[in-house]
Amino acid sequence: MSRPFEEELDALKQQSLLRRLREIESQPGTAMTYAGRRLINFSSNDYLGLAGEPFLRDAAKEAIDVYGIGATASRLVCGTLSPHVALEEKLAAFKRAEAALCFSSGYATALGTLGALAGKGDVIILDKLAHASLIDGARLSGAVLRVFPHNQVDKLEDHLQWARKEHADARVIVVTESVFSMDGDRAPLAELVEVKDRYGALLLLDEAHAVGVVGPNGRGLAERLGLSDRVDVQMGTLSKALGVSGGYVCGRRALIDWLINRARSFVYSTAPPPALAAAACAAVEFLESPAGEARRRRLWNNLKVLAAGLPPGLTPDKLQSAIVPVMLGDEAAALKASKMFYDSGFFIPAIRYPTVARGTARLRLTLSAAHYPEEIQAVTEALWELE
Ligand SMILES: *Cc1c(COP(=O)(O)O)cnc(C)c1O
Repeated sequence: MSRPFEEELDALKQQSLLRRLREIESQPGTAMTYAGRRLINFSSNDYLGLAGEPFLRDAAKEAIDVYGIGATASRLVCGTLSPHVALEEKLAAFKRAEAALCFSSGYATALGTLGALAGKGDVIILDKLAHASLIDGARLSGAVLRVFPHNQVDKLEDHLQWARKEHADARVIVVTESVFSMDGDRAPLAELVEVKDRYGALLLLDEAHAVGVVGPNGRGLAERLGLSDRVDVQMGTLSKALGVSGGYVCGRRALIDWLINRARSFVYSTAPPPALAAAACAAVEFLESPAGEARRRRLWNNLKVLAAGLPPGLTPDKLQSAIVPVMLGDEAAALKASKMFYDSGFFIPAIRYPTVARGTARLRLTLSAAHYPEEIQAVTEALWELE
């Protein structure tokens, strides 16, 4: 009798789908050390280079000195400490919303929020490329699920029509991202808002990869388009451009109060360490400052340098975010390309099923404000070596 898992793992390996952990030996930054080698990192979500920033470290250290390490309890018991409150006030103001609520991760945010907003008899309609956390949250909620082809608002409208007819009394929630995590493109937000309003649906917009990157001071796509007050549930994470860890929802006070009462991943989990809240608060403060805006502009300058040097065909015509997919299709080809970059001193992971659909494997190259132009030029030159 074969032992459990070995055969399954072998099968994954045969299909070029086996994944494993890599131990990184260096601190955050564009230069990384892995297996004793120095590589230029084009894979992190630290778009503004904040994860290693001294002022974030200091904010965390000061909070540790005052509040200790652990939060000691869930938020509703005695785990709500002053840094949590300060962060939520800061985030609400940053996103121009009435209130905000933080969770231990973006994943926990999606799970808890969708579970609190929808239940049996309700309808959740997701973009086909929505992040796994949103899919899992939608599934866990028990609502009826529908999926519309990526960014196709007319197809979304078909589902909305269907929902209004077949589930007349249901709450209907449309779920999408402002910047898509594996494709780097943006949602047609103005059209989405118009159609969801017309059908009386709610919109949950996950700005995980837009915050810090898109819009004035990195406030995100909704703010960039002047639509913040028409997005019912503004979700995001503190773990990407903000350089820390955790997730959040911003919106009306009543929405936040409902989540405090009903979001299970919030209610039944120990509060995040107060030092992380203090560091995230410092990160948001930085984004609001002229220095933060200058850092964001540097990221966009870097993207311009990259776009100017990219070979045609492999990548999108117009970069809409810090995420640049290099489409290869075949899983083995993506692995081979990733290895080629590794051998030339770059770290760019192959993204494969189940993160993306089978046969749409790619390299996911991400840029940071911290990259040097020479590093970007070097990687574009290496990209021309791919056939
Ligand atoms: C990364 C990500 C999340 C999860 O956030 P974490 O803080 O990493 O748990 C949620 N949504 C999207 C779109 C993401 O890319």
